[in-house]
Amino acid sequence: MKETRKGMLLVLSGPSGAGKGTLAGLLMKQDASFQFSVSATTRAPRTGEINGVHYHFLDDAAFDALVAEGAFLEHANVHGHRYGTLKSEVDKILDKGCNVLLDIDVQGAAMVMKAKPDAVSVFILPPSFTELRRRLEGRKTDAQEEIERRLNNARAEISQLGSYQYVIVNGSSPEDASRTLKAIVDAEKQRTARCIIELDD
Ligand code: 5GP
Repeated sequence: MKETRKGMLLVLSGPSGAGKGTLAGLLMKQDASFQFSVSATTRAPRTGEINGVHYHFLDDAAFDALVAEGAFLEHANVHGHRYGTLKSEVDKILDKGCNVLLDIDVQGAAMVMKAKPDAVSVFILPPSFTELRRRLEGRKTDAQEEIERRLNNARAEISQLGSYQYVIVNGSSPEDASRTLKAIVDAEKQRTARCIIELDD
C-alpha cells in the first residue's frame, strides 16, 4: 500500500495571551510534519526574538513593496502593526511535503479560509478575561498600554469564533489543550480528500 497526503494548512487564531504560540510549539514537537510559517511584520522585535525565526521584521516601505509584488497570501493590521503571511513561506513548507502552521489573527484567517477552503481552522480561547490579563501581564513582553490594547481587541476577536471549524479552551493545562489539538490534526489528516491511497494487488 502506498499512502500520499496532500499538505494541510492549519490556521490557529485567538486573542493575544490565549496560548497559540505555546500550542504551536507543542504541536511541532509532537508532530514533525508541521512547520511554522514565519510571517512578516512591522512590529519591533521583542527581547529574544530572532529575525527570520519568529518573524521577518520589516519597515513599512519593505512591507509595502511586498504588498505591491503580491507576495502575501494575506496581510492585516493587528494591534496597530502590520502582519502578513508570505506565499513563499507557505509554498516552501508544502514543497517539502510538510503541513503548514499559521498563527494569524481573525482578519488574516478569514482571507486564508476564503483562498484555501480546505484549510483547517482552530480558535484558541483563554478560560476567562481575568486569566487573559494575568497571562499578558505575566509575560512581561509588552508595555501596559499595549496590553490594554490587546485586551480591548480580545472581545472583537472572540466574536469571530463561529467562523472557525474548531475551538479549544486553553485553561490550566496546556498539555490537555495540546492533546485536543493533536487529535484534531490527526483526524483531519485522514480526510479522504487529503489522502491518496494506492492498494497493492
Ligand atoms: P504578536 O505581536 O503577539 O507576535 O502577534 C499579534 C497578533 O498578530 C497575533 O494574534 C498573531 O496571531 C497575529 N499575527 C502574527 N502573524 C500574522 C500574520 O502573518 N497575519 C496576520 N493576519 N496576523 C498575524
